[in-house]
Amino acid sequence: MGRVKIVFLDIDGVLNHSEWLYEIQARWKQMRIADPDFSEMIDERAVKLVDEICRTADARVVISSSWRICHRPGQLNAWLRAKGLSQNILGVRGNEIQLWLDEHDDKDVKSIVILDDDSDMAHLMPRLVQTHFSAGLLPDHVPLALAVLDRPMKRKRGKRR
Ligand SMILES: [Mg+2]
Repeated sequence: MGRVKIVFLDIDGVLNHSEWLYEIQARWKQMRIADPDFSEMIDERAVKLVDEICRTADARVVISSSWRICHRPGQLNAWLRAKGLSQNILGVRGNEIQLWLDEHDDKDVKSIVILDDDSDMAHLMPRLVQTHFSAGLLPDHVPLALAVLDRPMKRKRGKRR
């Protein structure tokens, strides 16, 4: 894989925002749509900002959202590609970002940034660019994310080869 930069990407509160979600869900309810197109919940303006971060920093995307529980990685990938992500996602992660990092030898990970509206990132807080649920990902977040990706991860001791 080589040493990659990773964007851990949350969806709700990052690729959409509260008002956006309320409007869509109200419309689905009003139109009695039983089998909605969930990709409508993803704002392509936000996806394009993620794409800008990835292309500028040469970074890859790992989905870090509860959406992974209800939707297959291939489906999430297809939605993001359709909304303007110009690369395939690298994968999805379970509950702990650190667990994902532990499973991937740290010689493979150059740096990470976490795009999330939550802040329960423990020791990875310095890696977080926090969005707000009421606004989602905004152009102002792009330089912040790029600055975080520019900072290499410290390698874990004892794992060097
Ligand atoms: Mg969220």
